[in-house]
Amino acid sequence: MTNHFQILIVGGGNAGLSVASQLLRKNARLQIGIIDPADKHYYQPAWTLVGAGIFDIKKTERDQKDFIPKGTTWIKEAVTAFAPEQNQVSTTLGNTYSYDALIVCPGIQLDWAKIAGLKESLGRNNVSSNYSFGHAAYTWEMIKNFKGGTAIFTNPSSPIKCGGAPHKIMYLAVDYWRKKGILDKCNVHYLSGSSIIFGIKEYAATLEGVVRRGHIQTHFGVNVVAVEGANRRISFETKEPSVQQIEASFKDCNIF
Ligand SMILES: Cc1cc2nc3c(=O)[nH]c(=O)nc-3n(C[C@H](O)[C@H](O)[C@H](O)COP(=O)(O)OP(=O)(O)OC[C@H]3O[C@@H](n4cnc5c(N)ncnc54)[C@H](O)[C@@H]3O)c2cc1C
Repeated sequence: MTNHFQILIVGGGNAGLSVASQLLRKNARLQIGIIDPADKHYYQPAWTLVGAGIFDIKKTERDQKDFIPKGTTWIKEAVTAFAPEQNQVSTTLGNTYSYDALIVCPGIQLDWAKIAGLKESLGRNNVSSNYSFGHAAYTWEMIKNFKGGTAIFTNPSSPIKCGGAPHKIMYLAVDYWRKKGILDKCNVHYLSGSSIIFGIKEYAATLEGVVRRGHIQTHFGVNVVAVEGANRRISFETKEPSVQQIEASFKDCNIF
């Protein structure tokens, strides 16, 4: 296998595979290398629908080999270092690959450890996250089995893969509880690291209506710092005095 490519792509997720396919459409003779160690490709947008009980989690996991565009070279390794002066990258296997042009798209790494107790709590004690293949199905278990009480939906202050995902599952959950006739027993809170419901004015106006109709209580400028699954508690930092007061009312939480 050659160690030099006209185009070298780091990461064969949605971005890397789409870019490779688009480039080949323009010029099928391009020599493209895709570096990615993963055996599986995940269609992550569908995890929202899995969490809402309307999509099968198994269908979101596919073999990576079936999605590498024909005509490209798949290098099944992980990049460990960039050497832009030499137009080179190095990999976990100690190999070096060179390029004319480099495209870097290794996705966003999830950092569960940023919230104390989260990793240990996920997938049990009514704590879930749609941001993981291993837990999206548990979100639906929680929504389906919820009979009323406190449901807390969180949206971190750090960059995330899909800005809409923390909202979407909340609106779908509220809709399900409304149809089930238990919404009046649900105390739904949205804790967001952001200062507004959504960054685009036109969408924000519509979402504010959805929030009102769902009786969702929104709290902005909130950074969740700890989750105690066994005690069903959540802790957060905020400069907003009105939000600090409500923490005391969060008992027996279901945390999404
Ligand atoms: C719950 C949820 C709902 C979403 N909903 C939507 C939606 O409705 N609409 C929408 O547009 N988007 C949505 N998204 C976002 C969308 O899934 C991501 O934006 C998209 O998957 C990002 O593609 P990516 O290629 O950048 O990263 P990924 O698809 O995460 O792929 C990154 C790839 O890089 C590889 N990699 C990592 N490190 C290295 C390394 N060192 N060397 C080589 N390879 C490496 C990984 O193995 C992986 O294959 C959602 C995401 C989630 C989690």
